Amino acid sequence: MPRNVESTAFSSALEVIGGVEPRIADAIRAELADQRQSLKLIASENYASPATLLAMGNWLSDKYAEGTVGRRFYAGCQNVDTVEALAAEHARELFGAAHAYVQPHSGIDANLVAFWAILADRVEAPALQRAKARHVNDLTEVDWFALRRELGDQRMLGMSLDAGGHLTHGFRPNISGKMFDQRSYGTDPATGLVDYDKVAEAAREFRPLVLVAGYSAYPRKVNFRIMREIADSVGATFMVDMAHFAGLVAGKVFTGDFDPVPHAHIVTTTTHKSLRGPRGGMVLCGPELADQVDRGCPMVLGGPLPHVMAAKAVALAEARRPDFADYAQRIVDNAQALAEGLLRRGAKLVTGGTDNHLVLIDVTGYGLTGRQAEQALLDSGIVTNRNAVPQDPNGAWYTSGIRIGTPALTTRGLGLAEMDATAELIHTVLSQTTAGTGPDGTASKAKYVLDPALADKVSRQATELLAGFPLYPNVDLT
Ligand SMILES: *Cc1c(COP(=O)(O)O)cnc(C)c1O
Repeated sequence: MPRNVESTAFSSALEVIGGVEPRIADAIRAELADQRQSLKLIASENYASPATLLAMGNWLSDKYAEGTVGRRFYAGCQNVDTVEALAAEHARELFGAAHAYVQPHSGIDANLVAFWAILADRVEAPALQRAKARHVNDLTEVDWFALRRELGDQRMLGMSLDAGGHLTHGFRPNISGKMFDQRSYGTDPATGLVDYDKVAEAAREFRPLVLVAGYSAYPRKVNFRIMREIADSVGATFMVDMAHFAGLVAGKVFTGDFDPVPHAHIVTTTTHKSLRGPRGGMVLCGPELADQVDRGCPMVLGGPLPHVMAAKAVALAEARRPDFADYAQRIVDNAQALAEGLLRRGAKLVTGGTDNHLVLIDVTGYGLTGRQAEQALLDSGIVTNRNAVPQDPNGAWYTSGIRIGTPALTTRGLGLAEMDATAELIHTVLSQTTAGTGPDGTASKAKYVLDPALADKVSRQATELLAGFPLYPNVDLT
């Protein structure tokens, strides 16, 4: 695409916005400048394409379109129907799914749609069937109180938080923890890997209605064929939340036993992490759950965002191109190079490496908490986030881990040599940072000591590393 088309598009948009509220135009410009100069290793972030970004700023954002394609609660939705149908078609083709629901506003919302679809299918519908069999045709005679209790008594088995699971898999700070009685499976303390025999044992004991796989901080592949067998052995619905690694599934890096779509009853995802689309969510399923999933709005979701569905369609179309498979493979190659670079310099990694897009450094090896490491790296121009490690001695707030991921830097074009250089920068900062003390002289989990001159030096080196890989090279706002 000629350079001036993207530059003109964004410059003109900013001029129009700036004519109304210049401070917002300035904040948008500043965000691009900040993104261009930060070494972003946040495993859940990426850089969406200009086409994806532009698909969100237009007239589709004005539409109300509750319901689904062809069955709206509002008139005049023909163009939204086109957009939603195209996004769903791209999703089905890309992932080989029978059904795709592209309305969820985020990953959390996609999970809520899936949880309700499962409860409706497995608990509510059979209860109403039983009521009908008792010739209770008047639904007001259904014992709703008992039904609600039955719904709330259901069990969910998911990955524990400190092993890399997600809050929405039945944990207290999320509504899923109040909808379900949750138990979790962890990882083997010696290897850090999922122990499928232990998962099977937990399933036999706990008899969950739903078995959930998927993670935010587990650096390895999961065998979804085995997980499905475990679910089948106890009659559980098998759900996979591929929010983090959807791009690796789309790019055919995770195939066979490691592709969740052929094995799970229902798959949820975000669209903005490794998949590189707009912020949003999506649900994939077979025909059995399709009707319940399509009730997402208004059952648990507010009205769909047609402009974001348009951006999802654009990003999914991009992910269907052959170069996306190349991108997905480079994400994993880069993560492995980063892991090797860190290991060679003496870092301790959870599971000893990675076979996906993320690496989890156990920073207790440097005598630091995750919080100290995160801040010291940030001072040095390296953006990461702290994360718990299995059986974390510092708890979920301070933590003992740093999670780093390669989807964003890979989009910028950084490769194996730059990953080694990045490992060097990270190791330099962490090995030169020491834990600080509180006012009374006791060890602090938050304070740290790092020579500001070293932080500055690393920060400059990070900028130099990025200089050869301009972000949005065709966008010139000057
Ligand atoms: C990121 C993530 C989510 C939540 O996505 P949001 O878009 O932030 O709501 C859900 N599940 C998993 C596994 C995730 O990694």
